[in-house]
Amino acid sequence: MGDNQHDVVVVGGGIAGCFAAATAAAAGLGVVQLERKSRERGGFIACGDAIKSPRNPSDYPGPIDMDAIADDESVLVDNNIDRIEFWDEQLDVRKVLPYETSSNVVDRYEFGQRLLEQAADCGVEQHYDTVVNEVLQNGRVTGVKAIRQGEPVTYECDVVVDAAGAQSILQDMVDFERLDTPGDSTFEMPHYTHFGSAYREIIETEEPVSYHDAIVGKPLEELGYIWYFPRTPTQINVGLGFQMNKEPIPLVDRLRRDVADRAEFRGADVAEKFDGKNKLGSSIALRRPLDSMVAPGYLAAGGAAGTTHPITGKGIRGAAYSGYSAGRAAVQAIEDGDVSEDGLWEHNRWLYREHGEAAKLASWDAYNVAASSIDVSVLRAVTALLPEAELREIVGTAREVDSLSSKALVATGVLKNFVSEYRRGTFDRLGVSTGELYDAVRGVRTTRRYVSEYERQYDAYPADRAAFDAWRSDRDRIDREFYDALELAPSEHKY
Ligand SMILES: Cc1cc2nc3c(=O)[nH]c(=O)nc-3n(C[C@H](O)[C@H](O)[C@H](O)COP(=O)(O)OP(=O)(O)OC[C@H]3O[C@@H](n4cnc5c(N)ncnc54)[C@H](O)[C@@H]3O)c2cc1C
Repeated sequence: MGDNQHDVVVVGGGIAGCFAAATAAAAGLGVVQLERKSRERGGFIACGDAIKSPRNPSDYPGPIDMDAIADDESVLVDNNIDRIEFWDEQLDVRKVLPYETSSNVVDRYEFGQRLLEQAADCGVEQHYDTVVNEVLQNGRVTGVKAIRQGEPVTYECDVVVDAAGAQSILQDMVDFERLDTPGDSTFEMPHYTHFGSAYREIIETEEPVSYHDAIVGKPLEELGYIWYFPRTPTQINVGLGFQMNKEPIPLVDRLRRDVADRAEFRGADVAEKFDGKNKLGSSIALRRPLDSMVAPGYLAAGGAAGTTHPITGKGIRGAAYSGYSAGRAAVQAIEDGDVSEDGLWEHNRWLYREHGEAAKLASWDAYNVAASSIDVSVLRAVTALLPEAELREIVGTAREVDSLSSKALVATGVLKNFVSEYRRGTFDRLGVSTGELYDAVRGVRTTRRYVSEYERQYDAYPADRAAFDAWRSDRDRIDREFYDALELAPSEHKY
């Protein structure tokens, strides 16, 4: 094998890239991981830093030792988060959603550094200061071109793993329709409205905050939220994000306005990092995982594959298990000598069928579609109205209100909240009529029904490429029926 000839080229030194590269290298393949940042800045990534169940091997599969990372005090600071709090301060509404599994806020940079170190320990060759600027293809993807420390370099390989994050530039470079596939390429190109724009600062406060053991979300004037995620009682990851199918929000100014109003941030300052303040922004996938994440010689994982929670934007876990899946599928395809779409299909199958969380994310995206279709005032009114169990279901991916008794409890809860919020004048202040509220609650019920319908469909995701077209047209039919049930205009159709 020549200097720049590898079995696998992984583009991206984030979570998905490290999980993919480590998995393929641990299985004995020759893997190079390309990252545009320097070694020192690797893992310095815009994130809210909230991570759920870091020790669960099903969420973090493969050779990366997450227990060792979770034991590292510089990563998982001693800060057990046991609930989500949702505050609508203008309306004096506060919802508390307890967590049943462990959750933490990490130092994302230290976390990223440990992942890169572990990938290197698994035998991954890492090239930093390397910006990929072209994809090579010849019937299949055969490698990439990059500028490494100012010099052009060509990397040839059997499989490229695209772990370059949300709005991956690689997807603009590959001509998917010119790859050798039995019919049209199954790879799904995301649209820019499927992404959000997000920004965060690490703010150090003078006194511990009262919500040091909770992650806090607050509504924005457009679909999106402001968060306070405490890394420690005095070091808070404060950020905000909005979805790109809505009017843009000037993120930095909006964040400053928010913290200026709060007592705990008086006298606080943004922490220092490298040669400046610890502030970062990036795009984020807010869509269902791609219908198909494979093409001949090419696999997408993490943000590049849309494995992010479509409501909360959390994507650390999704990047980890989808990175692992990409590494695993690359190993299998190379061993079988078949890196065609069919040969790499195992990546789609494992994520949707065997691991299954991608199927959940895809089904839960129905809530994003529904929330995008209503006015933010109505959305805030519905949030005030819905009991905690139902909200927890929407921001998670677990069924909470399925049994008849839980449904009855939720219905009673809605009624109780309606009476108390009506008396407090919440709906008047939002300018939301009872009719609009009724329609919106009906919309939530309709959406729950379609979430179940999507779950059934994604649980039947095709085990091989041959059955994909029929499966997709069935899924598209569910999309159309769902849009009709919500009475969406064609311009509001997400896919
Ligand atoms: C502001 C913000 C807050 C968030 N908060 C949370 C949260 O609290 N919890 C949570 O779970 N998720 C959160 N997310 C989502 C989460 O950060 C992402 O889902 C996750 O980082 C995706 O990981 P990834 O490895 O796919 O991509 P990334 O982490 O984006 O990594 C991609 C890597 O590829 C590199 N790269 C890109 N292009 C090239 C190129 N051409 N050449 C070489 N290298 C390249 C980049 O430098 C980067 O290192 C947040 C996202 C944002 C933007």
